[in-house]
Amino acid sequence: MNVLDSELVVASLRRCGYELTDRRRKADVLLFNTCSVREHAEEKIYSALGRLKQIKRQNPDKIIGVIGCMAQNHQQRVFTRAPYVDLVVGPGQLHQIPDLIDRIRDGGGPQLEVSLPRSGHARQAIARSFESYDPLRDPEMRPSPYQAYVRIQIGCDKFCTYCIVPKVRGPEQGRPPQEIFAEARQLASEGCREITLLGQTVNSYSYRNGGPPTRLADLLYQLHDIDGLDRLKFVTNYPGDMTDDLLQAVRDLPKCAHYLHVPAQSGSNSVLQRMKRGYLVEEYREMMSRIRETIPDAAVTSDFIVGFCGETEEDFQLTKDLVAECRFKNSFIFKYSERPGTKGAERYADDVPEEIKKRRNNELLEIQNAISEEENQLRIGKTYQVLVEGPSKSWRKKGEDRPGMQLTGRTPWDHIVVFAGNPRQIGQILPVTIYDANAFTLFGEVVTQEVAPEVYLLNAD
Ligand code: SAH
Ligand code: SF4
Repeated sequence: MNVLDSELVVASLRRCGYELTDRRRKADVLLFNTCSVREHAEEKIYSALGRLKQIKRQNPDKIIGVIGCMAQNHQQRVFTRAPYVDLVVGPGQLHQIPDLIDRIRDGGGPQLEVSLPRSGHARQAIARSFESYDPLRDPEMRPSPYQAYVRIQIGCDKFCTYCIVPKVRGPEQGRPPQEIFAEARQLASEGCREITLLGQTVNSYSYRNGGPPTRLADLLYQLHDIDGLDRLKFVTNYPGDMTDDLLQAVRDLPKCAHYLHVPAQSGSNSVLQRMKRGYLVEEYREMMSRIRETIPDAAVTSDFIVGFCGETEEDFQLTKDLVAECRFKNSFIFKYSERPGTKGAERYADDVPEEIKKRRNNELLEIQNAISEEENQLRIGKTYQVLVEGPSKSWRKKGEDRPGMQLTGRTPWDHIVVFAGNPRQIGQILPVTIYDANAFTLFGEVVTQEVAPEVYLLNAD
């Protein structure tokens, strides 16, 4: 979500004559697009801001902005902790950034623009204040012109007790289908081949305008007809809304990646209940078997939080059992971080010591990495259609002008594949045969096109 927001902010600033730079000391405007999901992410921003204090003193005209979730979460507090910040803008006001910068330049002083709190106003007014913007896109601003995120839903109404997202991203709102199709068609006409639909609980998507609601499966069927698009993905799924019609759409539509990110968070019912996730582990297991039945080759990934309030060794053992049993393609594992303003912080003590959180994190990661490696090794010798994204990270790091370019791309199951190639192959979908694998990456080589048989003909005279 933040990658998409950054893309849109930079595009709107470019339309006003700005250029993007990677030299932060030279920049006239410095923006931090922030995350509030864990405390660590917010503290990192305050440290980065701290390092700018001196620069701002020497160059008072430089404009420093904090935008996104932390701006919405801390609001005025950002100015208190870092008084040299000029701009604090929440995720619902990002489109105002060029105007707000102008106002600061014109001597208007520090600017704060955020959405309404989640209570104390009419729901409609709150929802409207969070409506984020998705203007026409500028393909140059994406990390890859061949892949794009499309927001189909903003906000969240699930209120899991550990989570700050409903506060900082506002009420759940489905985006009108016509807007989604128009954006997808525009992206396809610009050469984009893969679209990832975004929502905090993307499979809960529903849009009603009079008649029956449009659901995620309906969107997939219609997006599937757009010429030029080759791949469709969607993240993040909520386990309680993984309906059969959606799984069948993924099975029946060839452009849908067989890749499903469905966070479980814990394998223990008492923890899930305190988290207010709205399902039992038995229901998660039942959902996994429906996925395996309908899409036997599906790559399923998950998120887990370890050390949530009151998590015992027995609870943690149940989480380990679930990971071992589900054989996720990979899992993102987080140590619980208490977020002031959530029900979790209000109701339960953050009582699992940091040392234990760390150990549980490492233990779970070890189990998951072993599974990921085993699953990836089963891919050796197989050939996959890989959408080529660009030069691989490690190759880029060592300098781009070296010979022997290494490219990176993704399979329809979202595996990262690294292979030797050339710049002309970027943006193509190529068959790649896998010869090696570790827990995180497949290594392969492009299947060379079949060469036509050659004929030598001697014309005897
Ligand atoms: N909407 C998505 C995820 C949002 S946040 C979903 O519901 O799955 C991404 C992940 O961060 C979550 O899945 C969760 O595992 C983790 N997370 C959220 N709040 C957290 C907290 N307070 N401490 C640690 N991890 C957290
Ligand atoms: Fe947070 Fe739960 Fe909503 Fe995901 S579903 S964004 S974890 S409140």
